[in-house]
Formats: sequence, structure tokens, C-alpha cells
Amino acid sequence: MLNTPTLAAAPLRIAGIEPESIVDGPGVRAVLFMQGCPHHCPGCHNSHTHNPQGGTLTTVGAVVEQLLRQARMRAVTLSGGEPFFQAHSCTLVAQSLRAEGFHLTCFSGYTWEALTANAAYLPLLHTLDLLIDGPYIAAQRSLELRFRGSSNQRIIDVPRSLQAGHIVLSAYQESAFD
Ligand code: SF4
Repeated sequence: MLNTPTLAAAPLRIAGIEPESIVDGPGVRAVLFMQGCPHHCPGCHNSHTHNPQGGTLTTVGAVVEQLLRQARMRAVTLSGGEPFFQAHSCTLVAQSLRAEGFHLTCFSGYTWEALTANAAYLPLLHTLDLLIDGPYIAAQRSLELRFRGSSNQRIIDVPRSLQAGHIVLSAYQESAFD
């Protein structure tokens, strides 16, 4: 997808990249932590990612190159911060990884209903395999939940949901953390 220098040079502000994680989606995955989040969930563990002017300003091309090199299992999670806060640049990253056959999971503080109601968010949504949606709600926190922090959050099978026109939960929704 990054067949023009313009796309590769598109700016992207990130909090960091974790080359290997086993808690941010199925299997062993790299995690791209985006910078900037408008949700400010009380009790958020990633408050350093909230400032939209914080983190590191880089480019789509540099991030894709690093993920292609470091994500050995060809699986990446978009986390944050709020990935949809930089929806355009995040979509370019996701489309590039998708073209290489990567599995993509994304966390968002927005609900599925809010994301699908906003045309600006649909291109990124269409690149994803799994979406873990909704804000972190401290009163619903549980350590028993796989991939999620609070029980309001849903693990959504994105392709099947888009095809069905309603939410189809992933089998991971019912599987306990082990
Ligand atoms: S959406 Fe995520 S990063 Fe943003 S405030 Fe909520 S828990 Fe923190």
C-alpha cells in the first residue's frame, strides 16, 4: 500500500512498540502503542499515552518497516492511546501489514456502535481481525478476562460483524485468562 513516498512519509505519533506480547491478543504479537487518547478512563494504566503532543513523532513508513522486522509471528495489536485518534495514518500502517498477511487486533475506547457510525473510522475497521471495544471501566475491572481490563469490553470478530451488520463476538470473549 505504501507505493508512494507521500504515504510512507505520513506522520504518526506513537508511544512505542513492544516487539513481543502474549497478553494483547491471540498468540505472540507485536504491539504498536499509539499516542493520544481523548477518553481519559479513570484508572487507565497508560496515562502517559493521553497527550496528543507526547510520545514520538515518526512516519508510517518507519513504523511499518519496524513491525515487519520485529513481529516474528506476523501478528500485531494496535493499542494506545486510541488508535482511531490517528485513524488515517493508522489505516495506512494496518493496510500495509494486511497486505503482508498479518493478523491484526485493535483496542479502542470507542464502542463498536460509535465506530461504525463514523465514516472516517470505517477504513481502519475494515483492516482488522479482532476489535476489543469500549472504555476501561474500573468498577467492572476483572483479572479473569482474556485480553480485556473490564467486563464491559467486547472481543469482536470484525469481518463477521461487518458482513452480518451486527456484532459477532469472537470465541475469545468467553475464554478465561490462562
Ligand atoms: S481508552 Fe485506553 S488508553 Fe484511553 S484512557 Fe481508556 S484505557 Fe486509557
